[in-house]
Amino acid sequence: MGFTAKRGAVSDKTYTVSGKTLDEINKDMAKKGPPDPNDGKRFSGSCLGKLEIDIKPKDIDYEVKSSGGKFAAIARLKSGYVTSTSVITTPKLASDKDLSDKARKEWQRFLVFVGVHERGHADSYYALAVKVMEDMSGMTGGGAGSSENEAKAAATKALYEQITKKYGGSGLGDLVKADAKAYDSKTKHGESQGALLDASIS
Ligand SMILES: [Zn+2]
Repeated sequence: MGFTAKRGAVSDKTYTVSGKTLDEINKDMAKKGPPDPNDGKRFSGSCLGKLEIDIKPKDIDYEVKSSGGKFAAIARLKSGYVTSTSVITTPKLASDKDLSDKARKEWQRFLVFVGVHERGHADSYYALAVKVMEDMSGMTGGGAGSSENEAKAAATKALYEQITKKYGGSGLGDLVKADAKAYDSKTKHGESQGALLDASIS
């Protein structure tokens, strides 16, 4: 099956807003909406992503050569996963009983497009997982030693060092943030997809 990118869970959360008009609701969202992880500004929805690398010793494949009592090994990944997960937060109206039919319709339209925008983030995080998986699939670690096991251990260490250098620490988190930023700048935080409430409708 090979080393694979996996689409993990996409879970949904809501926060409650209220108001007698769309304008009041809009202001409540500006106060209570989830903050953007990049600039801390509040938006009507958010999609926080996470990438996780899951590799175990059994996921490494070795090529070993020996000559004159010396061993050389090359390590690469043959299985394991890069998984993307997302948590989507969208607004929920406490009650729509004070809204006009037109306003209620606009609120429902808005919610659909907020969902479209946020799910787009989740898709983009998965695409990022695929990119990381492809990059890691091309990585190799080389090592030498006086026994096969010694050479394999050195090769494993070299492979892990490469992975850690690029994706360890805050590496994966930074990539996720940059991905969110790029998608938000492309879509104007969903505005270009229709995820903007027309608060002028009464
Ligand atoms: Zn966004």
